[in-house]
Amino acid sequence: MEKISDVIIIGAGISGLSAAHFIKKLAPSLEVILLEASGRAGGAIQSFHQDGFLAEWGPHGFLDNAEESREILEDTGLYSEAQQAPLGDFHRYVCHGGRLVQIPQKPGKILSTPLLPFWGKLRVLGDLWIKPEPKDQTLGQWAGRRFGRSVLPLIDAAVTGSYSGDYNLLSIDSVMPGLRKLECEHGSVIRAIIRKMKEKKGSIKKRLPAMNNFPQGLDRLVEVLEQGKNIAFDSGVTAINRENGHWRITTAKGVFSAKNMVLALPVNSGLKILSAIKEPPLAQIPVSRICNVVLGFADSAKVPYGFGYLAPECEKRFTLGVLFSSHMFPNRAPSGKVLMEALVGGRRHPERLELSDEEIISSVCQDIRQLMELPEKPLFAKVLRPASSIPQLEMDHPKMLAYRAGLEQENKGLYICGFGWDGVGINDMVKSARKAAVAISAGGRGEEAAAAVKPVYF
Ligand SMILES: Cc1cc2nc3c(=O)[nH]c(=O)nc-3n(C[C@H](O)[C@H](O)[C@H](O)COP(=O)(O)OP(=O)(O)OC[C@H]3O[C@@H](n4cnc5c(N)ncnc54)[C@H](O)[C@@H]3O)c2cc1C
Repeated sequence: MEKISDVIIIGAGISGLSAAHFIKKLAPSLEVILLEASGRAGGAIQSFHQDGFLAEWGPHGFLDNAEESREILEDTGLYSEAQQAPLGDFHRYVCHGGRLVQIPQKPGKILSTPLLPFWGKLRVLGDLWIKPEPKDQTLGQWAGRRFGRSVLPLIDAAVTGSYSGDYNLLSIDSVMPGLRKLECEHGSVIRAIIRKMKEKKGSIKKRLPAMNNFPQGLDRLVEVLEQGKNIAFDSGVTAINRENGHWRITTAKGVFSAKNMVLALPVNSGLKILSAIKEPPLAQIPVSRICNVVLGFADSAKVPYGFGYLAPECEKRFTLGVLFSSHMFPNRAPSGKVLMEALVGGRRHPERLELSDEEIISSVCQDIRQLMELPEKPLFAKVLRPASSIPQLEMDHPKMLAYRAGLEQENKGLYICGFGWDGVGINDMVKSARKAAVAISAGGRGEEAAAAVKPVYF
């Protein structure tokens, strides 16, 4: 028999769970059901526990600088449980010339950093005089033109940390729409930032944000968000159509119908379903895969104080970057041991994921050992190969966003959010999910808000 509700959310990852949370909060009378293909909620979020080590298959935390995620933490009472690692207290490093160099966070320190040559620091100011180019460009073209080529390894490190992507492929208009808008309005990024800081003087927060996780790992966020939700597991959606103003959704477990449907899936999973309504410009968007090498060492390992490091491609290293997880959060390793999580693969090196676990562990250890003093062998080593991949917002992405906007406009009651549409971080997901929930609770879509500026933290 067909099951009828007010809202159907497809996908119970953080996007779907957040959409359900906000709808329940804003319009408690609406009946909401989540349809989830697998037997568990959380999607890419999944914590890993073994031999006293606590690591993550997917995301390792989220910054507390997005009001929508803070709202969830407040609504659920999770704020008091969250472990916070403030960026201001922990050093972050970039591999530069074969050694780890601390990333400067204060303007004064930028002047003395060895990460940019003297002429490179001067060239950054060229941004003040270079006219904005209205056409979309790759992140590399855009940054090179505005700030000079010597900043490219830093841009590379930043997109490795978020997208494990390639700055020569990612679209600036898709990855940083808010910053692009400011650049075009003010004629320069630096000028725009200075004006914004002046406008906000007094209200601007002085502190850098903090990375959030939980003593049980990020699973805790999922566990709390799924409480009280109506989730149909093992209910992968195979087809959708619209009849008499209702969405009819076919799954392995039967047919569901509702006036409103939130598609909260990674872009490529969403396209498989949406292409039945309208052919997309691309059948699939590019993705990046990574594996996470969980390494436990005796605490005689000389791990530098801080969050971890990122390695730009020009450094020609095997590992994309390493998180010093037991520095960031307490209880990630048994007493007397330290935990590091090394990321391998990414958009540029999918071939490295074809290697055996033993080969990956050996190459990672050899690589890290050149950067810090480590004991001969790790006490614990495990390669986690997540099924989720990271969608890449490359030069065709604006076409995909136009396709989504057209679909939502032409199909009343259709809301599309999820991994890779408006970004790739947890905060991006929660923000888009909240937007869908606000529209549903208001009985339809309102004015589109301007894209916000996403700050970049390495
Ligand atoms: C390796 C890795 C590391 C990451 N690190 C970070 C990080 O440190 N910080 C950060 O902020 N973000 C990070 N991210 C990104 C973060 O994980 C994502 O932003 C977020 O988890 C995406 O959530 P989602 O709900 O949109 O998609 P998903 O988590 O993919 O959830 C989608 C859900 O939909 C289900 N589904 C799929 N198809 C169907 C169907 N046809 N019918 C029904 N259900 C379906 C899936 O089973 C899944 O449960 C990382 C991602 C990866 C892969």
